[in-house]
Amino acid sequence: MKIHHLNCGSFCALGHPVLNRLLPKLDQFNLVCHCLLIESNSGLILVDTGLGLKDIRNQERFKSNFVFNHLARPKLDVEETAFMQIIKKGFNPKDVKHIIATHFDSDHIGGIADFPDAVVHVLKDEWDAAHNPHNPKEKFRYSPIRWEANPFFETYTTQGDSWKGLGKAQGLKGITDPIYMVSLPGHTRGHSGVVIEDESNIFFTGDAFLLEAQLLEKSYAKPVEIYNQLGHVNPVEAEETLKKIRTIHQQDPQLVILSSHDQGLYKKALAMEKGRK
Ligand SMILES: [Zn+2]
Repeated sequence: MKIHHLNCGSFCALGHPVLNRLLPKLDQFNLVCHCLLIESNSGLILVDTGLGLKDIRNQERFKSNFVFNHLARPKLDVEETAFMQIIKKGFNPKDVKHIIATHFDSDHIGGIADFPDAVVHVLKDEWDAAHNPHNPKEKFRYSPIRWEANPFFETYTTQGDSWKGLGKAQGLKGITDPIYMVSLPGHTRGHSGVVIEDESNIFFTGDAFLLEAQLLEKSYAKPVEIYNQLGHVNPVEAEETLKKIRTIHQQDPQLVILSSHDQGLYKKALAMEKGRK
């Protein structure tokens, strides 16, 4: 397998110049939307898609999402879409056979409409939350326009098997490579992480945490924690999930733990990718 790291959506989080000045150790507060493009035996696989062409060309589609528009504040640049970056890398977007979605927030599945032939893999709890929201936090974050153009979905439960103490889905249909989905609930009901068990040794944790400082329990990460909690459906469950990720990190420091929006982790991953060429 070969893994490419893509930024499929830069953000200008509300107040980031102030936060960067007040918290200089967190100068990565200019957020990215880190996605993985994997060249595999099962064709091209995307782990999350970032923002999509349709969203960027029709910004009305974000209208109802207050947090997204007013707190995250996406840059909305067509050149940052997975679709355009895949073409620039010399691939055909039609060769994207699978999309693994950590969760159904707009900044993670905005691009799935650009790959209507790909099979989208998601945990069943997330599928259920998106189709049958239990509370206002769930109701207002999901928008069917993001996935209704895609006919192929596979859903998974994570009972019965585990990876380092996290519930693990039993294989992904049509994917023969060592790539697994694990349960990381809290940010959303069925939020997942993706484990890649090859020499890259990656554990992609989506929005389970925002910045690496939270993973390392740096005291200056507290304001980030509060900022981060605004976006969680279940902050208590999210904290439990983060504790488990911290334990995994302590027990296996060689594991490359990535999050979706930390610019610093994204740059480290890019450097790793270049080192491997
Ligand atoms: Zn996100």
